[in-house]
Amino acid sequence: MNNNVLKHISEDYNVVFACVVDANIRRLNSIVKQSRKDYYGPTDRLVFFIPEEKYEISDYGDHLSRIQEALNIADISNCFVIIVSNSANIAQEIIDVTRVISYDPTPMNYFKDNKIVSGHPLQKKTLHCHDKYNFPNSDAFCVFPWIGIVITRDGKFQVCCGSNDTIGNFNIHEHSLNEVLDSDYMMNLRQQFVQGKKPIACSKCWDDEQNGKPSKRSDTLDSVVTYEDILLGSRWTKEKNQLHILDLKYHEKVNWDEYLNGHLDHVRVIEFRGHGNIDIIKKIIQLGIASDVKIVYNRVESLSDEEKSLWIYFKEIIGAKP
Ligand code: SF4
Repeated sequence: MNNNVLKHISEDYNVVFACVVDANIRRLNSIVKQSRKDYYGPTDRLVFFIPEEKYEISDYGDHLSRIQEALNIADISNCFVIIVSNSANIAQEIIDVTRVISYDPTPMNYFKDNKIVSGHPLQKKTLHCHDKYNFPNSDAFCVFPWIGIVITRDGKFQVCCGSNDTIGNFNIHEHSLNEVLDSDYMMNLRQQFVQGKKPIACSKCWDDEQNGKPSKRSDTLDSVVTYEDILLGSRWTKEKNQLHILDLKYHEKVNWDEYLNGHLDHVRVIEFRGHGNIDIIKKIIQLGIASDVKIVYNRVESLSDEEKSLWIYFKEIIGAKP
C-alpha cells in the first residue's frame, strides 16, 4: 500500500479503511463486510489499492470487478470508494464495471496524478479533526494518554485496554491516580505521540491499521466529538488532560470517593468490566454530571436493583436494557 497516497487522501477525507486488493475474493468480501458502517458521513471513504505490478491487458477490470462485487454484497455506494490503480485504462474500466455489475449507477472515484477524479461532486472535509482540536499534526496521534485510564483486574494501570503494557509498577494500593497520570511512563508516552512516533505498547492499533481495519485509536478519534466542549482549546503537551474515559476492571473494595477525588468531574464514559460500582455511580450523580455520562457494562447479572434504579440519571447505558 502506498502510504504517501493514503496520506494525501486522508488530508481531505476520512479513510474508513484501506486495503490492497488481491485475488482472494472471500477475504475481500469479509474485509468490506466487517468494515461496513450503518451510516457514512459525506467525507468518509473506502480506499482500495489495486496492486502495482506491471498491468496486463488481460487483467482489464478483474480487480475492479472483485471490489464491485464486495461492495454489492455489503450494500455500500460507489460514491464512498476511491480506487488507487496504475492502470492507464482505469477510467474506462470503472465505467464498464459499473455498467455491467454494479447495483449502484454511480461510478467509483479514482486517484490519479496526485488528485482524486470523481464522476460526481465530492464534499471535502471543511475542518480537520486535527485542526479543530489542535492535535499535533501526526497521522499516528491518539488521545487516550491524555484522557483515559484503565484500572486492571489486579489493581494495575493501563493507558487503554488495547495497550499491551501496564503503566510501570504502579498499583492502586500504593499509588494515587495523580502519581500514575503524572508518571515518567505517561509523560514519555504522550511525548511519543506528540512527536508522531508509534509507541510499541500500541502495536495492536498499528497492526489493525496496517491491515486496513479500524483501530481503537481511529475509532476513538472518530468519537472525540463526545468530548468536544472539553477538548476544544486543549493543549497537547506531556501533561495530562482531564480524565474522560475510566475503564474499571478492579473489583476489590476501595474508597472510590477518596481515590478518584477530583478525577471524575469531567468523565464522560465509564466502563465497568465484570461488576458495576454503586459508589462511583452515586458520586457521578452527586457531581451533577450524570446526564453527560455514558456507562458501559459487560455483565449485568450481579448488579443490585439500587444500581439499576439510578440509570435513569445517565445519558446512556450500554450493555444492558434500563
Ligand atoms: S494507540 Fe491504540 S493502544 Fe495506544 S493508547 Fe491509543 S488506542 Fe490505546
